[in-house]
Amino acid sequence: MAKKSELSIRALRTFIGDKPILRGVSLQIRPGEIHAVMGPNGSGKSTLCHALVGDPNFKVEGGASLDGKDLLGLDINERSRAGLFLSFQTPPAVPGVSVANYLRTIYNAARAPAAPISIAEFEKIVKQEMAALRMDEAFLDRYLNDGFSGGEKKRCETLQMALLQPRYVLLDEIDSGLDVDALKIISHDIMRLQKERKFGLLVITHYARILQYLKPDYVHVLNRGRIIQSGTAALAARIEKEGYDKIVGKEGGEGGMAGLDEEGA
Ligand code: ADP
Ligand code: MG
Repeated sequence: MAKKSELSIRALRTFIGDKPILRGVSLQIRPGEIHAVMGPNGSGKSTLCHALVGDPNFKVEGGASLDGKDLLGLDINERSRAGLFLSFQTPPAVPGVSVANYLRTIYNAARAPAAPISIAEFEKIVKQEMAALRMDEAFLDRYLNDGFSGGEKKRCETLQMALLQPRYVLLDEIDSGLDVDALKIISHDIMRLQKERKFGLLVITHYARILQYLKPDYVHVLNRGRIIQSGTAALAARIEKEGYDKIVGKEGGEGGMAGLDEEGA
């Protein structure tokens, strides 16, 4: 049985058509813990995130629960309301929808069935969070992710996380498309929020670099849809030094894909 206070993933399998992608992933994340899942391109990192938050494009088997509540029977909005948040690897642009309107919509959806809050009340809350993140309020009037730099997109994701106050946060390659300075700023913001609110954090990454800032308690290596090794931060340091080849060994990665498709889905 799943323990009460944890995000519990049990023998999770996903399929696209008949093709298995995740082939039995198990992971337990308690509030306040930081876990990293590292893996070569195509190993199933994004699939794990999307399957957990309830992306309807994936057929999922196995078990997943959040603080004892079964997740797999819930739709994407119900999972968000249960306290799960995903920061997308490539957040989509939505021309015509302002950041303010988008944030208010997701904020009210997360509060449902409670009545939506007024625009004025919402502005007060969002501006407080933006001040803590040192974000310019002019941001609110721009169209969502439209023409945003890599750093702006990820800061917008961080603002959503701050607003929704999730219990468990999944970051899908938040380091992709960021330069070193933006990576530092965003990691610092996420660590501050994590220390303050003590959510469980799953950092998905190809590169060990971000783990210098988002310091994981546990590191897991995903390869071809399976966790093939788990350890401490020392495992990430080893991957940084030796690359994935030595770790994935004879199982192999996706073959010739390493280093490609850094911005891929
Ligand atoms: P990662 O995030 O680790 O790079 P993904 O989870 O994006 O890997 O992909 C895992 C595997 O699933 C890859 O082999 C990829 O080609 C396949 N895959 C992902 N999405 C789709 C899709 N929509 N259709 C077909 N195959 C897909
Ligand atoms: Mg990915």
